[in-house]
Amino acid sequence: MPRPIAARIQPDAIRHNLQLAKQTASGSRAFAVIKANGYGHGIERIYPALAGADGIALLDLDEAVRVRELGWTKPLLLLEGVFEPADVELAIAHRLTVAVHCDEQLDLLAAARPESSRGPVDIQLKMNSGMNRLGFRPHAYRAAWERARALPSVGAIGLMTHFANADDGQIDWQLDTFDAAVQDLPGEQSVSNSAGVLWHPRAHRDWVRPGTILYGASPTGVARHVAGIGLRAAMTLTSRIIGVQTLAPQETIGYGRTFEADRPMRVGVVACGYADGYPRHARSGTPIVVDGVRTRVVGRVSMDMLTVDLTPCPQAGIGSSVELWGDQVSVDEVAEASGTIGYELMCALARRVPVVVADDTEHARATQAQGESVAA
Ligand SMILES: *Cc1c(COP(=O)(O)O)cnc(C)c1O
Repeated sequence: MPRPIAARIQPDAIRHNLQLAKQTASGSRAFAVIKANGYGHGIERIYPALAGADGIALLDLDEAVRVRELGWTKPLLLLEGVFEPADVELAIAHRLTVAVHCDEQLDLLAAARPESSRGPVDIQLKMNSGMNRLGFRPHAYRAAWERARALPSVGAIGLMTHFANADDGQIDWQLDTFDAAVQDLPGEQSVSNSAGVLWHPRAHRDWVRPGTILYGASPTGVARHVAGIGLRAAMTLTSRIIGVQTLAPQETIGYGRTFEADRPMRVGVVACGYADGYPRHARSGTPIVVDGVRTRVVGRVSMDMLTVDLTPCPQAGIGSSVELWGDQVSVDEVAEASGTIGYELMCALARRVPVVVADDTEHARATQAQGESVAA
């Protein structure tokens, strides 16, 4: 009998969130961002839900190859571009669009061997408009663009930048910088992450690049910022209660004795700990659902277990179902109570947690319809 923990991935939720992102930025095409193995959800598991995207964006070349092998024929963008000559060959072979953020990457493209020229590589030329991570400085951008345009190995050149704090409303300083530097340069523009999609129509441009909202998490890490938008959780982490303790007043629970009962109380022991990806920094009070009732984590999260207050759900006992995050408690709420963001929790789901994919009704319907038309 395996431990009762499992993560359920809901492709339907991703399809819904993608549709919502596309409606919000209705004048733009959308790259679905699925870096880090689809923010921890598993590329192969969520792939059927991405059919409505106009492109897919990610980081790892091997993930990009996996996506092509799944049958993706639309644009596929490598957000950090290439790192060595062999990458250029693979980018050409798999018709990848590559971000180009520095002269060294232009050197790699310039050195692409002619026998490999099965076609030029489309690029997204990245500007550092203030994030100071990747990209050409605004004053160097035009020269980089001109150099790229002169390279026979380079096809279409998109114009790209990334916002440092689209989540707290401040993008104009970067967007003004970007606009001034790309003035009269041709090329499709792409500047918005999830926060840009939700809150900055001025930044929608030709392409948007939503990531975290596809999975139902808030770009700010704060659950209430996306309340009412209609996002659905794509990952639900569940487990069960495997032990119950009844504490007398002044008794403590767990390592470090960080929680002390102030009255007699029942505490449930849940088969989920930080080795499963639940944050060790979750404070006493972090919301959690037992048998459909919202309650709180009490005491310190340990490697394989955590403990919950059963006061609001006196009927609960061994075997009761627990939702750590998902449909009833958002991953953002758990992240907030742990001093992080939902992105980190989703990406950190541990390998040892079994993953099940929920029925993907639309995909099933589409496949069935296809089968019927083939049969007909
Ligand atoms: C990760 C990433 C995105 C998506 O960001 P979200 O906040 O998850 O929407 C968009 N663009 C780039 C360059 C990224 O690295």
